[in-house]
Amino acid sequence: MIVARSIAELSRHRPELAGTVALVPTMGALHAGHRSLVELARLHADSVMVSIFVNPLQFGAGEDFGAYPRPIEDDLETCDSLGVDLVFAPTAADLIGSDPQVGVSAGRLGTVLEGASRPGHFDGVLTVVAKLINLTRPGLSVFGRKDAQQLACIQAMSRDLNLGTEVVGAPIVREEDGLALSSRNVYLNDGERGSALALSRALGAAGRAIDPESALAAARSEITGAETAHPWVERDYVELVEPSTFLPLPADHRGPALLALAVRVGRTRLIDNQLLDFG
Ligand code: AMP
Repeated sequence: MIVARSIAELSRHRPELAGTVALVPTMGALHAGHRSLVELARLHADSVMVSIFVNPLQFGAGEDFGAYPRPIEDDLETCDSLGVDLVFAPTAADLIGSDPQVGVSAGRLGTVLEGASRPGHFDGVLTVVAKLINLTRPGLSVFGRKDAQQLACIQAMSRDLNLGTEVVGAPIVREEDGLALSSRNVYLNDGERGSALALSRALGAAGRAIDPESALAAARSEITGAETAHPWVERDYVELVEPSTFLPLPADHRGPALLALAVRVGRTRLIDNQLLDFG
């Protein structure tokens, strides 16, 4: 496995990769969710690259950039065991530089829902993903549906800026009890880990509802129940949105809808989502 720790090393080794090449961008602290992305990439491509970069541009003031886990040696072992061909793990000084002037705007999609809670977040994601795509030139890049709005922003960027990479979405990987895997789950203590199950319970309750109004009410009621039971649980948003625009849906909506939620559990902010259909 090639490990490129700088742009220069990447440029030197990228030509060694043969055939169709896929990129799986990550911030490291790799778990089974990331592993499933690599496996999906492998199904579609002859060579697989993984980038590991904790992107400072996508963290807001007061968020967990400093505390974000960075087990780089474990991550390299994981990539090696998955047969990854190249890992790109640059430093921030190398990838971002000291005084960047130009970035990508996620437009309206970057300002609603998750983008409203985290101003500038999707601009920061897109700026770095654009750089990663320009540097690695993948025919295909794989992103998880766990971050559904991020996936939509990246698909829009690839289309609108003609990046020439096919953006593939991968299913959400969950623990057996329903909690979506996340590098941030390591922050949860035992009590918080238990109350974090309210997110997947809310999605399950919404999935059993017969119309948008009752789906949203059922999901919100699960989160309100958790807030009442545990003072460390605090809802950021629970919304039913149109799956490509992420704008709210009318109560009489028919057809596909995305239930998206963000909940603080202690000092950890968790997100989850599920596609529903009110055909
Ligand atoms: P991150 O390292 O959190 O930036 O995530 C890197 C990629 O892995 C993103 O495309 C995420 O959507 C994806 N991902 C993270 N957690 C999961 C999960 N539980 N299931 C599927 N994909 C995931």
